[in-house]
Amino acid sequence: MNSSPTIPHNINAQKPPPSLTQIRGIGPGVEEKLGRLGIYSIQDLLFHLPIRYQDRTRLSPIGSLRAGDEVTFRGEIQLTEIKYGRRRMLLSRISDGTGSITLRFFYFSVKQQAGLERGAWIQCFGEIRGNAGKLEVIHPEYRLIDKNTPLTSEEHLTAVYPVTDGLGQLKLRSFIDTVLSSPALFEQHLNELLPAEVIQHEGFPPLKEALYFVHHPPPDAPLHTLMAGTHPTQQRLAFEELLAQQLSLKQLRAQHKKHAAPSLQSQDKLSRALLKQLPFTLTHAQLRVNREISHDLNQATPMQRLVQGDVGSGKTIVAALAALKAVEAGYQVAIMAPTELLAEQHRLSFSLWFEPMDISVQWLSGKTKGKARTAALAAIGNGDAQVIIGTQALFQDEVIFDQLGLVIIDEQHRFGVHQRLALREKGASSQSTEQHSTTGHQQQFPHQLIMTATPIPRTLAQSAYADLDLSIIDELPPGRTPVETVVISEQRRDEVVSRVHKACRDGRQTYWVCPLIEESENLQCQAAQETAESLHHALPDVRTGLIHGRLKAIEKERVMAAFKAGDIDLLVATTVIEVGVDVPNASLMIIDNAERLGLSQLHQLRGRVGRGAQQSNCVLLYGTQLSKTGKARLATMRETNDGFVIAQRDLEIRGPGELLGTRQTGLVNLRIADFQRDQELLPRIALCAEKILSDFPQHVTPIIKRWLGDGLRYKEV
Ligand code: ADP
Ligand code: MG
Repeated sequence: MNSSPTIPHNINAQKPPPSLTQIRGIGPGVEEKLGRLGIYSIQDLLFHLPIRYQDRTRLSPIGSLRAGDEVTFRGEIQLTEIKYGRRRMLLSRISDGTGSITLRFFYFSVKQQAGLERGAWIQCFGEIRGNAGKLEVIHPEYRLIDKNTPLTSEEHLTAVYPVTDGLGQLKLRSFIDTVLSSPALFEQHLNELLPAEVIQHEGFPPLKEALYFVHHPPPDAPLHTLMAGTHPTQQRLAFEELLAQQLSLKQLRAQHKKHAAPSLQSQDKLSRALLKQLPFTLTHAQLRVNREISHDLNQATPMQRLVQGDVGSGKTIVAALAALKAVEAGYQVAIMAPTELLAEQHRLSFSLWFEPMDISVQWLSGKTKGKARTAALAAIGNGDAQVIIGTQALFQDEVIFDQLGLVIIDEQHRFGVHQRLALREKGASSQSTEQHSTTGHQQQFPHQLIMTATPIPRTLAQSAYADLDLSIIDELPPGRTPVETVVISEQRRDEVVSRVHKACRDGRQTYWVCPLIEESENLQCQAAQETAESLHHALPDVRTGLIHGRLKAIEKERVMAAFKAGDIDLLVATTVIEVGVDVPNASLMIIDNAERLGLSQLHQLRGRVGRGAQQSNCVLLYGTQLSKTGKARLATMRETNDGFVIAQRDLEIRGPGELLGTRQTGLVNLRIADFQRDQELLPRIALCAEKILSDFPQHVTPIIKRWLGDGLRYKEV
């Protein structure tokens, strides 16, 4: 086994990067603006990569232009006039003998107007649009020329960069060009960090060549390939970027693995006792995942395991078995859920299972106040509370655990990457130190079990969660019949209501989900409150209940308990029931305004039915304005119940950033790579990451720094 590589921790210990102000035109003001783009060094400037390209290397005859082209053309001004439509604007018609086109300006000066006089020649660059069969360009870049001026064209395709206020394309381009054209700057700040054999094996061009090419593609470079991001030079950079991302997660993981954790060895007396009480036996997948977790819990290093399992695959019982191991070994367990409602559900399940075994289950949420709070904190602090269930409130500073051995985070996708990483720290700082340590002074960290129902494709999961071990519950308990889904227009609402009526009379319990709790102007979602009233009105013989996020905890609990007990037939709800709610007798779900919800949310919601043996149905009601992607989503829901298929479609429709809940976090805010497009690189990148960690550990930090900055982003919560 190779020992874990030494990773330089302190990036700041390296010599400070040469200042950007070495470049002509960059003073303190510009430097500050560059900082807003994440550019702090000459290397950062080189790795500020184009988002797209323009071809300014040739002139196009006007007759050949098509809507969508971004091109340079020239012609003679035929007519310039001011038009008064909804807005005042300046129109100028130009022609080059092959065709004519209109330039349209909404903002213009008198001087500008005067300059565009009939008979003058003009050269323009811009995006061609088609307007009622006629071509036009809005606000082109232009300059007046002499008819016979030769084209002073660019020598290469023009890169378009992400910019910021006060720092436009031209300036950025000139700074980057300065670096590229100065061997001293360019070469000095560019180290090849990929192992030579990887470069050779992948057939990658050298880094310098690749960078030069993406900033300055020659005129004959394939524009479409470049725009698609699949040119070999771009793929080489994408490879390195995804590698950086994996290395940073693996580094986090390696650091965490150096910590100590209590080894939770037990005879499994408690878990065997629980299994005996259950009305079912575990599936093979549950047994396997349970074994994987048990193995980790026996170790003296902290478990970092992600359990993925589709909705209804039975993650809760797997979590309960892990909890029992910790309890039997004499440690506390914290179970955290993203919503109050789900946390309450867990409290019910766990109390039911654990209290007969004399295990104390403690509740703590943000809404636990006053005396109850004081008592809860005391029980957690002195160890009377063995299993503590709650919301994020569990990780406030004032919550001090006695001996926390295991943290379970349910429905992790609702928390986001930053929170997950931050929790790791908090779990540790709330740990009482030293007294349980076998090595004297080392601080102990609790084990972590993370559960998610967002089934993302495995290669993607392995990259995005490279800091975690992965277990997959890839089997549903037997006897489930797939939910049958239909998509129905809002206009047929009455039919749906009578269907609900019949179902309730037949003893089937029903959810009616409304996306928002109050009428909102911009989102015209049905208000749950109003829906409940109108349904109650329409179906007076049906026992109707209402649940939404603004109810008091105790009221929510009462409603859920009544629904569970069968005292409510029809539960009108907001998406608070999205996660975790488990009422096996409910077999019909209506989702109002379904087109407004994302695929994974729809899948989660629908997962509330189909939990028993009887046939379940889901009706997706959509409003009038159904977009193309909305249509695609609903069709996917109708076609499949498989969470992995749905996730794959979601990836295609939305892209991975949103799927992972990390669009804004910086973790998958990629510059040049694209998780979906570059999926097939991922397994090779994983191998390369291993190789670098074992053979070139000194490259780890520079690669991460080059692509992800100084890593501080992970700590911003
Ligand atoms: P999720 O993975 O969505 O959290 P739950 O843990 O809530 O799923 O389980 C869904 C339902 O399936 C619960 O009612 C649970 O009791 C039941 N269940 C779990 N495991 C099994 C099993 N092996 N056989 C039958 N039913 C099971
Ligand atoms: Mg669950």
